[in-house]
Amino acid sequence: MNLKISIAHLYPELLNLYGDRGNIITLMKRCEWRGIDVDFRQIGIGDRIESFDLFFIGGGQDKQQVEVASELYLQRENLISQRDEGAVFLGICGGYQLMGHYYQPFEADRLNGISLLDAYTVAGKRRFIGNVTAVSDFLTPSTLVGFENHSGLTYIQGETKPLAVVSVGSGNNGTDRTEGARYKNVFGTYLHGSLLPKNPHFADYLLKLALQKRYSDEIDLPPLNDDLEMLTHNSLVGKSY
Ligand code: GLN
Repeated sequence: MNLKISIAHLYPELLNLYGDRGNIITLMKRCEWRGIDVDFRQIGIGDRIESFDLFFIGGGQDKQQVEVASELYLQRENLISQRDEGAVFLGICGGYQLMGHYYQPFEADRLNGISLLDAYTVAGKRRFIGNVTAVSDFLTPSTLVGFENHSGLTYIQGETKPLAVVSVGSGNNGTDRTEGARYKNVFGTYLHGSLLPKNPHFADYLLKLALQKRYSDEIDLPPLNDDLEMLTHNSLVGKSY
């Protein structure tokens, strides 16, 4: 019997900055290469969000976040209960910000988040743009590389922990050296790039969690030849320009 997982891409027509769709392509290909079937759905405005093993939401400008925020907020209870049942979430930048309690833009009304993460975001005066290297305490290799472009300053609290510690770049807010956030199987990050093609070890980490959630058992993924991906990854570690 082929293994299977279900993946939802939330609001790709609105939140797909810097090719964040590349994260979905990576997850789908890494399943295909292993013969894992994927039930993939794109969720648009007005769609009811069903149950999935893995959710992805990309980044976007404040304007697009407004439309998505009100949609997500209507379905926050459903998403919180899926989080508590072990569903995996990956949110990038604008999508990450909406996974917290709120995002307060500069000259606009506060956007309610869905509180998957104990975090909040307020608009900052400067825009953080550039390459990022961050060091996690749960991945091998420990590094994550990507590109950030945000003015939002995110602060995490309570049981929500950083995804990683910044060694190059600004991360969540440019002051506490944290990058991203994690609580249960919910992961948020400012790393565009897109993220997963250059961090295949993180892609597999997420896929393993999604399979574990679906089959209630630890599933070992057969290794893939990631020589090219890791050559790219390693060429970016520590690079600030
Ligand atoms: N609009 C948000 C900000 O500027 C998120 C931007 C993004 O997704 N790159 O902080």
